[in-house]
Amino acid sequence: MEEKQLLIDNEWRRAASGATMEIVNPATEEIIGTVASAGPDDLNAAVAAARAALDGPWGRLSARERGRLVRKLGERLLERADEVARLETLHNGKPITESRQIEIPAAADCFQYFAGWADKIQGATIPVTGSALAYTLREPVGVVAAIVPWNFPLLLAAWKVAPALACGNTVVLKPASQTPLTALVLGEIALDVGFPPGVLNVVTGPGASVGQAIVEHPGIDKIAFTGDTSTGKGVMRGAAGTLKQITLELGGKSPNVVLADADLDAAVRGATVGIFYGKGEVCAAGSRLLVDRSIKDAFMEKLVARARKMVPGDPLDARTRLGAIASKTQLERVLGYVDVAKREGASLVAGGSRADIGTGRGYFMQPTIFDHVTPEMTIAREEIFGPVLATIDFADLDEAIARANDTVYGLAAAVWTRDIKKAHHVARRLKAGTVWVNAYNVYDTALPFGGYKQSGFGREMSAYALDHYTQVKSVWVDLNM
Ligand code: NAD
Repeated sequence: MEEKQLLIDNEWRRAASGATMEIVNPATEEIIGTVASAGPDDLNAAVAAARAALDGPWGRLSARERGRLVRKLGERLLERADEVARLETLHNGKPITESRQIEIPAAADCFQYFAGWADKIQGATIPVTGSALAYTLREPVGVVAAIVPWNFPLLLAAWKVAPALACGNTVVLKPASQTPLTALVLGEIALDVGFPPGVLNVVTGPGASVGQAIVEHPGIDKIAFTGDTSTGKGVMRGAAGTLKQITLELGGKSPNVVLADADLDAAVRGATVGIFYGKGEVCAAGSRLLVDRSIKDAFMEKLVARARKMVPGDPLDARTRLGAIASKTQLERVLGYVDVAKREGASLVAGGSRADIGTGRGYFMQPTIFDHVTPEMTIAREEIFGPVLATIDFADLDEAIARANDTVYGLAAAVWTRDIKKAHHVARRLKAGTVWVNAYNVYDTALPFGGYKQSGFGREMSAYALDHYTQVKSVWVDLNM
């Protein structure tokens, strides 16, 4: 099997140590590839290349030219969308329709969107006291490291790489060790479309070694991290040593609130998309369903019927809506939470077990719903990151909001209601970076995404992201004659 190598300074290189990692298809448990496992020497080389590029041709490129290159990245990604979507599904286990129809087009869109910004990032002329011309420049931060998890391997890389490049930074991209294949294709495309050496480097390897080395590396100016909240806390502690700028997109336990006047069928669809899209391995998953007590029985009947129709299947089959859990470790973790929920007294009303799609292989899980969950239970508090829904009831609007906000997280939330005043009222009171009204899991590159509370800080996508990839320089020109 061909070994995929590291991309450093526009060259494909084996790890200096010769170490490799095996990539597993979670739907078949087969090894589908081998990639280089980077160590400190490889990281040093990538950072040196990225630093040199800032002072080289990349640093001298006009903003418009930079934008053209970023746009080409997006275009080429779309041209190769079938192949890239297939790879995304092979290493992650998500249904091919999700990769092909949603994730890869969204990643391409992110490059197109930020390409448009490249030559529109402007400073200001600022009136100051005295005779002077004062203005600001918005300059790149420098070498940006992007550390990405395994749930949306390409999209979450795009959310970081696209604004970083559009703003004139250079990048060291570290994908999750389980899902490095599509980040390597992104590297291939960057080479193809003509990015100068050192601008985009892709360094594959385990988080505990190469990830940690990135966090501590003195040659890196900024880290854009998406991952678990506990890992994010470590990134923050580690980055303090060299005072790097950081943005953190972390976990969630997002409330999906159904009020008594909601369109029940729409809310049932929304609850399903909220927890089963991406197998529930979605940071913004609507994993806490809060339903008004007066409609709960009717709601649960419809929801359970719908969940029972979601049969896990071969992720490469276009009809599949629920794919394989991304790894054996993750499946075990999710099943562990199911056991805890049962022990703590929640009622299992759908699923709850590992599933077999007829092959006897693969890390599949039945869509799982718990009812009668109370706010103190573990499954109401901890992020499971799998297709497991915790249903909690409420008596009135104040209790709904109190329960919705009763979490250390604050990534996303939703409310279902036909009452427009109530909708906006609830949207203001929910403590989350995104609030959907009568919708769930919808995103747009033009709209910011990020967390309140322990879901992190900083915003990805949108014009707000540009602030995290530029630094402001004030220039004072004395005009005294
Ligand atoms: P993880 O924290 O284990 O890994 C994320 C990345 O960090 C991987 O590339 C990993 O190799 C690397 N890493 C691991 N240890 C590291 C260390 N000590 N130093 C530096 N890097 C290290 O998370 P995961 O299990 O891959 O991803 C799932 C998590 O990501 C969930 O908690 C989910 O909620 C979160 N997530 C958040 C968002 C968001 O936008 N907020 C989006 C997707 C996923």
